[in-house]
Amino acid sequence: MANKQIVSSKTVAKLKSVSKLYGHGQLLVKALDDLSLQVLQGDYLAVMGASGSGKSTAMNILGCLDRPTLGSYELNGVAVEALNDDALADLRNQELGFVFQQFHLLPEATALENVMLPMIYAGHPSTIRKERAEEALIKVGLKDRMANRPNQLSGGQQQRVAIARAIINQPALLLADEPTGALDSTTTRDVLNLFDELHDQGITIVLVTHEDDVASRAKTVAKFKDGKVVKIVQNSSV
Ligand code: ADP
Ligand code: MG
Repeated sequence: MANKQIVSSKTVAKLKSVSKLYGHGQLLVKALDDLSLQVLQGDYLAVMGASGSGKSTAMNILGCLDRPTLGSYELNGVAVEALNDDALADLRNQELGFVFQQFHLLPEATALENVMLPMIYAGHPSTIRKERAEEALIKVGLKDRMANRPNQLSGGQQQRVAIARAIINQPALLLADEPTGALDSTTTRDVLNLFDELHDQGITIVLVTHEDDVASRAKTVAKFKDGKVVKIVQNSSV
């Protein structure tokens, strides 16, 4: 599906005729049904659709956490299906950042240590890791909270730590599955403002939400139904 209004033409993520099947026989579930979707560089795409329409399955495939049953996925020019699990893990670490509804922070680690974690896997020396993690935490407004553990932080602050961790390796694509689902409306606004800032800085974002006001902040909205994209809308106000 072509998005003609988007200026950048570089495709960051390209799902082509992707199906994901679970179970078999009478119990066969088509979580994704011949889904094609392109995410262009600089886009901020909101994925909407009823529960069970395949949003999380699509995010898991975009995030290389799962593989399609049929079809192909290209991430930043790399054909994902050709990669073995180790290469896939490397690609995930280098090109992708994740934010989830539940923040998935390590409870015993400080905010700083949580943010440094993806860089350990990427093999950066510790001085660089610390410097960059501090910068990322300052960027998300947590300069004074770096030494706090998750249980010493509010939900909104924990999600900010998770966002800092997600962007620390400068990913090609930031994936967020209902990132404001566990937050109150004020905190939701703060987190969405942060996504706006990251998008303004050139980060490509795909965000799943079932809330219209969250989706209205995005540049493009893709509506899912029964494992397919049934509608793509460009938000004119952004
Ligand atoms: P959404 O995120 O839009 O609510 P999902 O992608 O989680 O939808 O699920 C799409 C469909 O696939 C649903 O019918 C769900 O029950 C099914 N599904 C998802 N994951 C699995 C799984 N691991 N095993 C079996 N069925 C699954
Ligand atoms: Mg879901």
